[in-house]
Amino acid sequence: RALLEVNELVKHYAVRGGILRRQVGTVHAVDGVSFSLGAGETLGLVGESGCGKSTVARTVLRLVEPTSGAIKLDGEDIAPLSKTALRPYRRSMQIVFQDPFASLNPRMTAGDIVGEPLTVHGLAAGKKKQERVAELFQQVGLRADQMKNFPHQFSGGQRQRICIARALSLGPRLIVCDEPVSALDVSIQAQVINLLIDLQRKQNFSYLFIAHDLAVVAHISHRVAVMYLGRIVEIADKHALFANP
Ligand code: ADP
Ligand code: ADP
Repeated sequence: RALLEVNELVKHYAVRGGILRRQVGTVHAVDGVSFSLGAGETLGLVGESGCGKSTVARTVLRLVEPTSGAIKLDGEDIAPLSKTALRPYRRSMQIVFQDPFASLNPRMTAGDIVGEPLTVHGLAAGKKKQERVAELFQQVGLRADQMKNFPHQFSGGQRQRICIARALSLGPRLIVCDEPVSALDVSIQAQVINLLIDLQRKQNFSYLFIAHDLAVVAHISHRVAVMYLGRIVEIADKHALFANP
């Protein structure tokens, strides 16, 4: 059975205007999207800017509220769950954003950032937490002595490694990557992509992977979904999709 099964997902944003901020229209950002994602699989999500990729990704994680549709994680539909009922599922779904600097608190040390989810979920504290954080640093290719440093003391690629370590901290089943290497130097992109691939081989979680660079998507994905105006217009094995025009 699929880890994630999305059925007829719809997200309409209200557009407000005028000094009274009344609703003047609706953006059909996602308009009936269905796909499934197996355990240990990577599904690439491509399409031009504004076609709804980020909205799909954020809705699947319930960071954005779906208008309608089902989001089944291990067969359980999480779309209608209350915030409280959703909590146990949050642990298994993580996101890595495009700009690692923007998603890191500049006043927290890298070690505290990576260990924060462990604290929030009450999973580890004190020495046990430090050990787990050191292990996560090592998994993403950072040194344990860098735990005391602040985000500005890291390079762009290293900052994305901090975000990845934080995403790994709770042992996720699904990691959504929303343009995770687009803000990085081209020379660093391959290193981060190869790290993501390597981590998946060892830990067997799934990726929903958004990127506009088709070479990057083709490299990391097993299957690729092509979006256009809020819908998936093609979904296929990457070899089939990129073989011939
Ligand atoms: P992509 O990730 O493919 O660039 P998005 O999911 O960001 O696409 O956006 C899809 C559409 O939804 C776009 O037309 C965008 O302007 C619109 N949109 C995204 N977020 C919001 C929002 N919070 N409020 C209103 N419209 C939004
Ligand atoms: P991206 O394509 O990487 O999502 P955008 O500039 O389209 O970048 O969106 C950046 C943020 O602004 C996202 O959180 C998105 O949901 C939000 N956003 C996009 N379009 C709109 C919109 N029309 N109204 C309000 N928020 C929007």
